[in-house]
Amino acid sequence: MEAQLTLTGTPVVPGIAYAKTAWVQGVAEPAEEAPDLPEAEREAAQDHFVTSADTVSQRLLTRAASMVGTASDILAVSAGFAKDKGWRKEVAKRITAGTPPVQAVTQATQLFADIFKSQGGLMEERVTDLMDMRNRVIAELEGRPEPGIPTPDEPIILLADDLAPADTAGLDPELILGIITRLGGPTSHTSIICRQLSIPCIVAARELDAVPDGKLLIMDGDSGEYSVDPDKEEAQAIAHEDSLRRQRAREWRGPSQTLDGVPVELLANIQDRASALRAEETEAVGIGLFRTELSFLNTPVEPSLEDQTALYSSVFSSFPGGKIVVRTLDAGSDKPVAFASVPNEENPALGVRGLRTSGIDEGLLLRQIDALVTASAGHDGPNWIMAPMVSTVAEARWFASLIRERGLKAGIMIEVPAAALMIDQFLEEVDFVSIGTNDLTQYVMAADRNNANLATYTDNWQPAVLTLINWIAQAGIRHGKPVGVCGEAAADPNLAAVLLGMGVTSLSMASGAISYVGSRLSEVTMEQCQQAAEAVLQAPDPIAARQAAAAALGSAH
Ligand code: PEP
Ligand code: MG
Repeated sequence: MEAQLTLTGTPVVPGIAYAKTAWVQGVAEPAEEAPDLPEAEREAAQDHFVTSADTVSQRLLTRAASMVGTASDILAVSAGFAKDKGWRKEVAKRITAGTPPVQAVTQATQLFADIFKSQGGLMEERVTDLMDMRNRVIAELEGRPEPGIPTPDEPIILLADDLAPADTAGLDPELILGIITRLGGPTSHTSIICRQLSIPCIVAARELDAVPDGKLLIMDGDSGEYSVDPDKEEAQAIAHEDSLRRQRAREWRGPSQTLDGVPVELLANIQDRASALRAEETEAVGIGLFRTELSFLNTPVEPSLEDQTALYSSVFSSFPGGKIVVRTLDAGSDKPVAFASVPNEENPALGVRGLRTSGIDEGLLLRQIDALVTASAGHDGPNWIMAPMVSTVAEARWFASLIRERGLKAGIMIEVPAAALMIDQFLEEVDFVSIGTNDLTQYVMAADRNNANLATYTDNWQPAVLTLINWIAQAGIRHGKPVGVCGEAAADPNLAAVLLGMGVTSLSMASGAISYVGSRLSEVTMEQCQQAAEAVLQAPDPIAARQAAAAALGSAH
């Protein structure tokens, strides 16, 4: 890319955009102290608060209704916060005692934020949504425009320190052509939603502060490069060509194969019936990862066998004849499930999570397996069950025996370096493996996948991670057993080609990514994929790995 000032971040969603920059509007922190309200004004203040909270909640709900999938879910959660009875009660209590509404909202929200933080994991991550809702209510109380995303009348590239989920969810891809954030990581909310909306996105762009508002900028979501004031005609031509290419990719409808006709098994990552239905509308031929624990994040006690069976059956009724791979509960760490997680662990990502919870309550796993076996009887395709966070051969053997004696295929996720390193012995115990690149990257790089400051480490293109994936895939070939990838790496079109070249046998990803990955694979030969796989293994860092793969695969059409 020719330009005067070229900077780099971590690329998350591929695509090129060229437009004027617009920074997200900051939030004015409300004053901590304010004089008490006179008695006579308190009732009106209560009404003003209720109306403002209602307005914000309704606005978010309306926006949620116009979206689908994760974006809609995230907005609905933020709208729910503004409606929450407990939170409203805390605010009302303070107004009654004379605190002005803005300060009452600030104090009450802080109370909840502290509780969420003390719970850690996913609850802690929700603090961002909570504070976002607070800022909106305060702006409404003060009669200011909604903070956050500007409402442009011409297309822009949005710049921000980080984006609140509620903001990202309301984005219009016709107006927001690209997004660059100074913070954020490849698995952050921002990244997940940008991927779903297919808005080119770069995160962890450390020098973004150097880019002013209103400057023409070109960004490349494949390489992570962005340049201010590029040659206008050249930039327009590159961006136009790329938008046509992305349009063609969106319209891709199989068959799922490489340019030279090698079939590719594309599968979907889902979490419930709704997401399974969305997956059926894509070219996916089945489900490669059913994250069962996501249905139980707000469930205080273990659901009955009947309730679990009903939930799983609703998923097994999708993809008739197609493969369905279910993962048993991956509770703990970033996905706390009240009835299955150990609270207050010092280091939950290295704690009792995934299959390890069975060491504490084996019955929980056995009951889930029973419900899954019953539910799977209603599905006539291949039914595979796998366990998350397996780290010893003994765990794999035990889990496989439980599944096989009930007549289903048994597998494990490869997320822990120990399992990757000893893959041959693990493959002797199970029927298949599926590489969870999100956690594998986190553990190989010793970098928290949710830490916005570590995005360069938690990059799936880290050569150490790619070396291990190659090692696992080669073992799969030797054992003649399937090796899938179901982490975010499979959703990156060029990386998907690299994985295929390494010998990975299936790719499972969010529904929104399927046409992009499928169309990219249809443009490259298996030989190119293998060359790309060889090339990335020689790269010293993620940027070089991306460049090496792009050179071997040729540019996208
Ligand atoms: C992974 O770790 O790559 C994976 C697919 O599991 P999750 O993201 O649910 O931890
Ligand atoms: Mg995982």
